[in-house]
Amino acid sequence: MTPLLLATGNPGKVRELQLLLAARGFAVVGQTGLGISSIVETGLSFVENALLKARHAASQSGMAALAEDSGLCVPHLQGAPGLYSARYAGPEASAATNNAKLLTMLAGAQGEARAAYYVACMVFLESAADPSPLVAQGFWQGVIGEHPVGDGGFGYDPLFWPAGGLRSAAQWSLEEKNDCSHRALALRRLLELLAERQAPQPLSLKD
Ligand code: IMP
Repeated sequence: MTPLLLATGNPGKVRELQLLLAARGFAVVGQTGLGISSIVETGLSFVENALLKARHAASQSGMAALAEDSGLCVPHLQGAPGLYSARYAGPEASAATNNAKLLTMLAGAQGEARAAYYVACMVFLESAADPSPLVAQGFWQGVIGEHPVGDGGFGYDPLFWPAGGLRSAAQWSLEEKNDCSHRALALRRLLELLAERQAPQPLSLKD
C-alpha cells in the first residue's frame, strides 16, 4: 500500500476516504498529529486553494497528498459565498450565522435568482514536485430556500434544496448525499484519473 496524506483535520473525511482509497492501494493518513501546519489559502479559486493545500502537505510530509476545497456558489451573488463559504459571516462565523447572512443577501430574490451550486475540488499530488497533479471537480445544483429546514448535514445544507427534490439537503441521509453530492462526484472522477495514471503502459513500441 502507498501511504497517502489527506490534507484535512476532519476525521469524517479521513474515514470516508480511507475506505474508498484502500481499494486503490493507498493507505490514507489524516494530517492531524503529524505536525503539519495549516496554510493561508491565498488562491482565487477552489482549484488553486486545493493545489496549495496538497503541495504544502506533500512537501511537509514527504508523502503523496490529497487535498479538497469546497463551498457554495450563488450566481446571483456573483458566486458568493464561494471561497469564503466557511467564514461568510466573518472570522467567527458559524453555520447558523452564515445561513442567516445568505438569507439576508437573497432577501427579495425569487425564482432563478435563488439558484445555487455546491462545488468540490480535489487535487492529488504524487509528491511536492509532481508536475502533473490530478484535478477533479464535482458540482451539485439546487436552490436556496426561504428558511432553514432539516437538522442533518452541515453548513448550508438546511437552506440547500437539491434540484428537483422535495427535501432540503439537511433532510437527506448521509448515504443519499454520498451518492450524488459535489464531493462524491469529485472523488469518483479523481479515482478514474488515478486508475488512468496507474494503468500499465502498453508495450507496443516498434521501431
Ligand atoms: P471545507 O472545504 O470543508 O472547508 O468546506 C468549506 C465550506 O463550504 C464549509 O464550511 C461549508 O460552509 C461549505 N460546504 C462545503 N460542502 C458543503 C456541504 O456538503 N454541505 C454544506 N456546506 C458545505
